[in-house]
Amino acid sequence: PLVLGIETSCDETGIGIVRGDRLLSNTIASSMEQHARYGGVVPEVAARAHLEALGPSIRAALAESGVALADLDAVAVTSGPGLAGALMVGVGAAKALALSLGKPLYAVNHLVGHVGADVLTEQPLETPTIALLVSGGHTSLLLVRDLVDDVELLGETIDDAAGEAFDKVARLLGLPYPGGPEIDRAAIGGDPTAIRFPRGLTLPKDLERHRYDFSFSGLKTAVARWVEQREDAGEPVPVADVAASFREAVVDVLVTKALAACRDLGVPRLLLGGGVIANRRLREVAVERAAATGVDLRIPPLSLCTDNGAMIAALGAQLIMAGRQPSGLAFGADSTLPVTEIQVP
Ligand code: ATP
Ligand code: MG
Ligand code: FE
Repeated sequence: PLVLGIETSCDETGIGIVRGDRLLSNTIASSMEQHARYGGVVPEVAARAHLEALGPSIRAALAESGVALADLDAVAVTSGPGLAGALMVGVGAAKALALSLGKPLYAVNHLVGHVGADVLTEQPLETPTIALLVSGGHTSLLLVRDLVDDVELLGETIDDAAGEAFDKVARLLGLPYPGGPEIDRAAIGGDPTAIRFPRGLTLPKDLERHRYDFSFSGLKTAVARWVEQREDAGEPVPVADVAASFREAVVDVLVTKALAACRDLGVPRLLLGGGVIANRRLREVAVERAAATGVDLRIPPLSLCTDNGAMIAALGAQLIMAGRQPSGLAFGADSTLPVTEIQVP
């Protein structure tokens, strides 16, 4: 089926067009720069930017794929989780589009969409698989038994998301937003073992209740304290060492917990998704340790890892191919939509 997907859960206005598991276009407009001076995404600003970007983005995606609106078989849209105001803009646009075209509409889960992105890559997703989704808004570990039928949340962050931690630590090191790429750059030449920063929720007592959960706010505080002490002592802050050591702590926990899930559950496959996947060290460590433990690792291209409309269209197409009925027009934006709700009726 030929599906147009709309994604507006955070700061990317993503329009994607797919035919089954074939990617035809993936247009992304980001309001990232408008949030830079605030050090994080401002919901109201994001919603307004979506409103402005949607029309031109839809036109661009149609032009790029050479598809006419009348050719579409369905429209798919992210209905949650995400920023309520931002989601609402996409949901409103999707309903208007589907209604005016008389096409079925599929309201889908953003997190499952991240997993669904992988069907657009060369070797399609095999299930069951463990999926680790890391971005500015989420850090979630999933067990995907069946993309359209059975997704289980194994664990998630109990405070900051991994990307958020990068953004906050960058800020306290005096680096601009978004912090991820800045920390990557600052860490060049730094010693990742220079400072042993805490690995959140990895002590035996934490593992009992939070085996697959993450926590990054303690790490952020530890970095802040370490830098403060240096400054108070009148000593220079070795930014490269701090950045490399902080990054190592984040990467270590992410990869350790994801591979623990693979081992515990007997699932030798791991899929990575989310904007933090852009992190070089994360990719490196994941590749190394997955190989060492016999886990088949999948990292889709970055354009499919960050928020995008193609993954939403792809999930919509998978639902159609599985024979699912379209969503009604009564659904709304659900900022806390659980990952088990793959499609909203
Ligand atoms: P959502 O959570 O809804 O997916 P988002 O916009 O926060 O939305 P993405 O756009 O996927 O997420 O990713 C942005 C986040 O990824 C930011 O927090 C940014 O700092 C982080 N990031 C980007 N590049 C890197 C990198 N090289 N290393 C670490 N983090 C990175
Ligand atoms: Mg983003
Ligand atoms: Fe996302």
